[in-house]
Amino acid sequence: MKKAKYVFVTGGVTSSLGKGIIAASLAKLLQSRGYSTTIQKFDPYINVDPGTMNPYEHGECYVTNDGAETDLDLGHYERFLNIPTSQANNVTTGRIYQTVIDNERDGKYLGKTVQVIPHITDEIKRRMLLLGESGDYDVVITELGGTVGDIESLPYVEAVRQLRWELGTDDSCVIHLTLIPYLSAAGELKTKPTQHSVKGLQELGVQPDILVCRTEHKLTSDIRKKIALFCNVNQNAVIESIDVDSIYEVPLVMLKEKLDKVTLAKLRLSAKNEPELDKWKDFLFKLDHPKTEVNIGLVGKYVELQDAYKSINEAFNHAGAMNECKVNVRSIQSESLSKDNIKEKLAGLDGVLVAPGFGDRGIEGKIDAIRYLRENNIPFFGICLGMQCAVVEYGRNVLGLKDAHSVEMNDGTKHPVIDIMESQKKLTKMGGTMRLGAYDCEVKKSTLAHKIYGKVNIKERHRHRYEFNNSYMDQYIQGGMNMSGINPETGLVEIVELPDHPFFIGVQFHPELKSTVANPHPLFVKFVKAAMEVQV
Ligand code: GLN
Repeated sequence: MKKAKYVFVTGGVTSSLGKGIIAASLAKLLQSRGYSTTIQKFDPYINVDPGTMNPYEHGECYVTNDGAETDLDLGHYERFLNIPTSQANNVTTGRIYQTVIDNERDGKYLGKTVQVIPHITDEIKRRMLLLGESGDYDVVITELGGTVGDIESLPYVEAVRQLRWELGTDDSCVIHLTLIPYLSAAGELKTKPTQHSVKGLQELGVQPDILVCRTEHKLTSDIRKKIALFCNVNQNAVIESIDVDSIYEVPLVMLKEKLDKVTLAKLRLSAKNEPELDKWKDFLFKLDHPKTEVNIGLVGKYVELQDAYKSINEAFNHAGAMNECKVNVRSIQSESLSKDNIKEKLAGLDGVLVAPGFGDRGIEGKIDAIRYLRENNIPFFGICLGMQCAVVEYGRNVLGLKDAHSVEMNDGTKHPVIDIMESQKKLTKMGGTMRLGAYDCEVKKSTLAHKIYGKVNIKERHRHRYEFNNSYMDQYIQGGMNMSGINPETGLVEIVELPDHPFFIGVQFHPELKSTVANPHPLFVKFVKAAMEVQV
């Protein structure tokens, strides 16, 4: 039974400084020094989870094994640490309030007026301590979403203030991430925004122990001294976080800056041995020294926003390194595709991934693209909606099922080859009601899927309401499409593939969510490999 120590990570000056990556990098370093570490994220918005937000609002929605729809930073945590997260790792203001309001309705506050302080802050604190109380972790890192100074962050900062007092300074520490902007006209790095941001925290009763300073230029020792003096931290606790090419370099940059050692010292923990990062370095080396490259198309409707397909892009990085191959991902807006321009739009691609998604915008473009890939023997990989589009395409163009469609797009279609799942029919609420999380899948032997996974029993994560309509199963199999992965309890089709094609596979689940640096996902690894082979 371990007694956890707590690290709180706050952010100042501006959003998008990469708090999630800093938290994940610190966790990686502590983990590789032999401390069992987890990370949780508290988000100050009122949605109970990000599942109801569209990707333009929030980027990708990351799904955990236990079916929680969470912030995409949890994806970084898993990719870095190679251990699964769960619902407990992501809490929002909406979830906090929901619990407090439910408690109030249950009469649990015994006639008291229910208020932000103490009831909301108590619920925040309870959840901040939850993972640590499991006895599984030496260190729990808590990332606070938002920026210090935001109205909505106040209860979280207050909860941190109280917890620091309750836990004591030996068992907790606060890392504040800030920006040191460079004014090119003056040719200088400026520390004032950092000073103001720290002052904002101090006014709320929280003194940060460590400052991680995001910067485009190196911090001189004078600047470090100045920041330390005016922000009331030790000089060795001013950590430079310089821009790097890949997020995977950040742990090594933080190691050089001793973020892990300084944090351990604050927590009164010994540094133990030097971190064991050989595999990580090997991955980085391969990422930086590819022997070849491939061009992969990513057809989706949220392509303008980088974060919308975060896990897919990262899975390509992992798979690329594994194959010692640089994967150039070219985003293609599915709405821009039509029968007339497919050839030109997909020219030069060695493989195409058709992305997950919802609703019918851009759907015909995806279907047209799949037809082209199928007919021209170009590797195709469809994920969730991408797999469903492959089924529709095959129905329409090979099996002669005129107007075959998914009922999500056309509920009056004569051939509903993708249908709503029975369990979804009576639902009225949208939040958290999809088929979510990890489910078993049985892979048929002598199929491409089996060759890829090398085993029969797999478990993958899901997020969908529609499924392959099994009343069309015989027709599809006779017509040449293989249903190579099936959920053993429900019979739901999880994988489809075409045997007479170099690489044509669609999966109902989201393999990208399980790809990590230590364990690149085999579907991505083999897809990239297929693209490399087609090229030759
Ligand atoms: N919209 C489809 C469904 O709900 C696919 C979902 C997805 O791609 N994640 O089944």
